[in-house]
Amino acid sequence: MFSGNLYVISAPSGAGKSSLISALLAKNDSKNMMLSVSHTTRSPREGEVDGVHYYFTSHDEFEQLISKNLFLEYAKVFGGHYYGTSLPVIEKSLAAGIDVFLDIDWQGARQVRSKYPAAKSIFILPPSISALERRLIGRAQDSQEVITNRMAKAVDEMSHYDEYDYVIINDDFEHALADLEHILRAERLTVSCQKVQNSALIHQLLVK
Ligand code: 5GP
Repeated sequence: MFSGNLYVISAPSGAGKSSLISALLAKNDSKNMMLSVSHTTRSPREGEVDGVHYYFTSHDEFEQLISKNLFLEYAKVFGGHYYGTSLPVIEKSLAAGIDVFLDIDWQGARQVRSKYPAAKSIFILPPSISALERRLIGRAQDSQEVITNRMAKAVDEMSHYDEYDYVIINDDFEHALADLEHILRAERLTVSCQKVQNSALIHQLLVK
């Protein structure tokens, strides 16, 4: 039994998922929480740093890692590129009592649920289609075709929201952040979590 909790967070791009996770980590003790850095075969975008945003990996290297069973989950997400979560890093962190966040898509979330049923999954939804569209347009100077394509992918991602344990509507950012913090707090109070976190106390209390 691991003492850290594993959280899967998914959202369509433009729903504010990365900002929420960053704000959560900034507000909390970073020794006890971490965002997993995925491997990907896509090229780095401007400003992205290897080992910080992703481990940028060649197609061959990625497939070698798959054959060695070194991924907790992996999927082809956008444009045929692989994205995956390193299994050894996650296991080591959870064993050390660190809560781990996975920012992954619905396909990865499904694999995590089947391999690690104790994981809790959270889906972030935008407050409306027009807000999502505004955020997708506001983020880059892309062509209408690219935006239409992104919107279709966003709707496809959102269609899986009901496979998750929790749904947060990111209308007001501070409110959504508080929702996320409340989920974490409640999860730390579950019997299975308290059994591990407070095993010495529980042992003492139950001695006859
Ligand atoms: P981007 O290329 O914009 O950084 O990420 C595209 C999508 O890939 C995001 O929705 C993100 O959640 C997803 N993603 C990032 N890392 C992983 C991963 O390790 N596994 C899976 N399944 N999806 C990932």
